[in-house]
Amino acid sequence: MKPRNDVDLRTLNTFGVTALASQLVDLEHEEQLPDIRRWLDGRTPFILGGGSNLLLTRDLTEPVIRVCLSGRSYQIDHNSGEVQVVVGAGESWHGLVTWSLEMGFQGLENLALIPGTVGAAPIQNIGAYGAELSDVFEAVRVYDLARGTWLTLGPRDCQFSYRDSIFKQPGTAHWLICSVTLRLQHHQVGNGQLKLDYGDLRAEVQANRELKGLGGLSTQSLRPQEIAEAVIAIRTRRLPDPAKLGNAGSFFSNPIIGLEEALALQARFPGLPAYRVVSNDPSGQHGPAMKLPAAWLIERAGWKGVRQGDAGVHADHALVLVNHGTASGQQIRRLAQEIQGEIHRLFGLTLAIEPRVV
Ligand SMILES: Cc1cc2nc3c(=O)[nH]c(=O)nc-3n(C[C@H](O)[C@H](O)[C@H](O)COP(=O)(O)OP(=O)(O)OC[C@H]3O[C@@H](n4cnc5c(N)ncnc54)[C@H](O)[C@@H]3O)c2cc1C
Repeated sequence: MKPRNDVDLRTLNTFGVTALASQLVDLEHEEQLPDIRRWLDGRTPFILGGGSNLLLTRDLTEPVIRVCLSGRSYQIDHNSGEVQVVVGAGESWHGLVTWSLEMGFQGLENLALIPGTVGAAPIQNIGAYGAELSDVFEAVRVYDLARGTWLTLGPRDCQFSYRDSIFKQPGTAHWLICSVTLRLQHHQVGNGQLKLDYGDLRAEVQANRELKGLGGLSTQSLRPQEIAEAVIAIRTRRLPDPAKLGNAGSFFSNPIIGLEEALALQARFPGLPAYRVVSNDPSGQHGPAMKLPAAWLIERAGWKGVRQGDAGVHADHALVLVNHGTASGQQIRRLAQEIQGEIHRLFGLTLAIEPRVV
């Protein structure tokens, strides 16, 4: 275990903002954990994955652990077709999606091209194109750096909801996710479980099939790869590539409010979209919940494409804040706060920030 001093984090966060880590250690093997725990000596670490859901507004004086744990294994139940996949936390998420499709496994196709590591996926229950990690999640193995003990958490323990989990709650800062277990399905043509009903995904898949002379979707010959290809094509067209323009994907979560409040807002702002969401409240006491697209609110408030120095709102995608070059994390945070204030004034809504701001 060799901690490095004064490590420049600019290439280790997808916003590409400059910040120094006073001390940083790469975690490559689980056997290093007891040594790392001794090195921490009771201090709370900052755990770093791929830095794609992170806004650094200061130098990190706390010890940084960069998770580089690798490894993949799987077991197929040939009777049910279920596949249990165990993956090291430092593996690339998109690498896992690509590998699973090559192996003929289905379940991750809608989550293609999300940057970052496998170990960070449970933190905000990553989601895209009608799917969420929780749909295929079985367990995580966690090392508690405060106590030196191992925990295994199942889906209920993780308390997954929209872009949220137990890992965002206080008291979990010492939990280091070391591996994630997923339950996928060995793909069989025509099994009908593929998810196509989000946005323009179906149209994209259909257009690709026509181009390749594969016929319409009714042929039942759809493969998970086709969904992944369509998701990759849409995402590549819409989202800026962090290698070219610093960003952390969606900067704000879509607000979720009650039906009555949503209807009242729609009466004041005609054209405001609202989508019914499945409630986490089994008692149903709080009535139906509606999700509003934060991008619509931000665009309506006039922020799309706005630039303050090198900090800006993307010109095509109002939900994505960008670093045009040398913006600092503080400048990006200031821009985000102004947007939050304006959305609150105009619509009475609180926009929650999705990435971790440090
Ligand atoms: C262009 C772009 C598009 C994106 N699209 C999506 C999308 O469609 N859907 C979506 O949900 N997200 C999206 N994101 C956000 C991001 O990719 C995900 O949240 C991803 O899971 C973050 O992974 P990471 O390894 O980069 O995490 P980091 O940014 O390094 O860390 C994020 C948080 O997780 C914690 N953490 C990381 N690893 C561990 C670990 N092993 N144990 C404990 N804590 C850990 C960190 O301390 C931090 O709090 C996008 C980001 C970008 C840049």
